[in-house]
Amino acid sequence: MKSIYDYTQEQLIDEFIALGEKKFRATQVFEWLYRQNIQDFHQMSNLSLELREKLISHFQVGPLEIIEKQVSQDGTIKYLLELEDGGLIETVLMVHDYGRSLCVTSQLGCNMGCTFCASGLLKKQRDLTAGEMVNQVLTVMNDTGERISHVVVMGTGEPFDNYQQVMNFIYIINHPKGLAIGARHLTISTCGLCDKIEEYAQEGIQTNLAVSLHAPNDEIRDQLMPINKRYPMDELRKSLQDYIQKTNRRVTFEYILLKGVNDDIIHARQLAHYVKGLNAYVNLIPYNAVDEHGYQQTAPKDVEIFKNELLRLKINVTLRKEHGRDIDGACGQLRAKKVGGSF
Ligand code: SAH
Repeated sequence: MKSIYDYTQEQLIDEFIALGEKKFRATQVFEWLYRQNIQDFHQMSNLSLELREKLISHFQVGPLEIIEKQVSQDGTIKYLLELEDGGLIETVLMVHDYGRSLCVTSQLGCNMGCTFCASGLLKKQRDLTAGEMVNQVLTVMNDTGERISHVVVMGTGEPFDNYQQVMNFIYIINHPKGLAIGARHLTISTCGLCDKIEEYAQEGIQTNLAVSLHAPNDEIRDQLMPINKRYPMDELRKSLQDYIQKTNRRVTFEYILLKGVNDDIIHARQLAHYVKGLNAYVNLIPYNAVDEHGYQQTAPKDVEIFKNELLRLKINVTLRKEHGRDIDGACGQLRAKKVGGSF
């Protein structure tokens, strides 16, 4: 049975028409689900009993099961959630002064194989549906009783390797009759699938794009991120230039500092050269050590040197605040621990 959360508002209307129902009924249901936050067809009191029964027999509804929950002293909450088929995913809530931001998982496992990342420890089993992503947001909102104001598709998985479902997810949570999370509060993070960046540029939506760069040159990026062999940095830069020109949006480069790998001052200069001329800024990320990988975090004083060199070269740069240091903070760590080698 399909989840009701899989449908964009337009798709739900088509589905209702196919079921012999009036168009406006679909809109009512959409509003119950996302405006009123009702996760039970029985409670949709302006629908006939007959229609409610019909919906129950056609669609799944209701939150995901919370298997484990880790609460950090800084307010970060890490959830381990169970999908219908038993698959386990992580979702992380971060509390900022500007609102509450949810880091959503887009695939069960990941095939990108980045050598520093815990998510890649478990190969991709399948893509998540739009509804499973929507339900991460609903489940956490229900659990905390508070609205989520920002969403980043930065959990396990490569969102552009699951493009259509991720975009449907974005359209569902952005819809003004639904959760109405503003497009500028929505961010998709990619390891750099150029063909999809080009497609994303055509969507005509004001959402944000973050690109996991993590290296200042192809030699290092090849080692860290196998995707670089398919889409090397020059090609990536061209797609981004095109994206920025089409959308007028600013791009964020994510750059994890790895001790002795990509954190030399020479690397800062190469990075500055790469970023120069693009409407982009660099977000430096402290590495969250994953036991299995052997990389280490750059020392704070070296982070400062790296950052100052970028600033000197007039590159916009921010340093990401670490969240949930006291819990299994790194992407995929909680899940990897739970699922172990069985995937
Ligand atoms: N596949 C997408 C989104 C998921 S990864 C992408 O590559 O962007 C989300 C971000 O977390 C990426 O920038 C990724 O490189 C980073 N990341 C992965 N493992 C990490 C770790 N151990 N410490 C810090 N950041 C990590």
